Amino acid sequence: ASSNGRNGAAKSLGVRRGVRGNFVPPVRFNGGSTSGAAAAPRQQHGGENGVEDSTKKCLELLVGPDGELPERLRNLEPKLIEHVSNEIMEQDPNVRWDDIAGLEHAKKCVTEMVIWPLLRPDIFQGCRAPGKGLLLFGPPGTGKTMIGKAIAGEARATFFSISASSLTSKWIGEGEKLVRALFGVASCRQPAVIFIDEVDSLLSQRKAEGEHESSRRLKTQFLIEMEGCGSGTEQILLIGATNRPQELDEAARRRLSKRLYIPLPSAAARAWIVRSLLNKDGLMTLSDDEVETICTRTDGYSGSDMKNLVKEASMGPLREALTQGKDISKISNDEMRSISLQDFMSALQQVRASVSQHELGLYEDWNKQFGSLA
Ligand code: ADP
Repeated sequence: ASSNGRNGAAKSLGVRRGVRGNFVPPVRFNGGSTSGAAAAPRQQHGGENGVEDSTKKCLELLVGPDGELPERLRNLEPKLIEHVSNEIMEQDPNVRWDDIAGLEHAKKCVTEMVIWPLLRPDIFQGCRAPGKGLLLFGPPGTGKTMIGKAIAGEARATFFSISASSLTSKWIGEGEKLVRALFGVASCRQPAVIFIDEVDSLLSQRKAEGEHESSRRLKTQFLIEMEGCGSGTEQILLIGATNRPQELDEAARRRLSKRLYIPLPSAAARAWIVRSLLNKDGLMTLSDDEVETICTRTDGYSGSDMKNLVKEASMGPLREALTQGKDISKISNDEMRSISLQDFMSALQQVRASVSQHELGLYEDWNKQFGSLA
């Protein structure tokens, strides 16, 4: 999708153009320093002011109708803004509600709390003003990231996705600035959804001994930005996802005011995942009874465990054909038998449930204490 896709072509209007349509940077680059940014994802030819062409293109899309870069972006290093635009912002996450199995409760809450307000900000004011932040918590591989992407898709919002652990590890010392760039770019790209995976690693209540000054500053900056987003007329929704909700402190819980438990898939949802993955590849030849057998044998499997199971099972026919002497460089799909229940039974030996009963109990306890219950 081009940057003029569903999400905000209007934001690129107002760019000043020179004769013959060449872009004239209307932006003050504050000395044009591109050094020091931990992220210089790729080197491109340098342009005027020492600002590379790729960076200029990103800035071009962010200038306002007055031809200036918005105030809050002006003091940030162009490279950081570029990193947010290129690596963190996704043009079209390409996930819809219909791609997500089960989770009806979560979908209903999210539609009301997030999608309607993003679509109709005029109605969702005052008493109906939506919460600022949403927390999706639960075992890994249950669809939290998918929900984040689907929200952006359904609400026709720009989607920003970043893992909090990359902020704390990869961006040592730079994380705070990156957070400012992230929220700054999001404010130029409204409506926007900012999805923070592993949010616990950023907003943990653990006072790590010798907690670095920089990570403390990062956390503070993040909380400040969160406080600001969604206030006034800003249409930025923050979604945090975590497999370790117990780690979140009180300040984080307060800001992520809606907290939805994303549980393991039900048997029906597991069946749906198996069917849809096989159908997608034209490989669905199992009977209803066989699918049901798979479902009864996969109690406790997450959505991503199910995906791995299907992958493993789908290798059965290929492995068999190869042991029968077929040549991997020449074999075609017609030379393989269809996937059978037996393939799934063998795959079950390889792919086990990744979440333990004990862990599930902890999620349920936390949900009772802090979750937004049905
Ligand atoms: P997490 O909860 O860890 O964010 P993801 O949303 O990244 O999990 O899911 C990982 C993968 O598992 C997805 O790409 C998808 O293939 C599969 N999956 C997980 N949950 C579901 C679901 N409810 N419906 C369909 N697929 C799912």
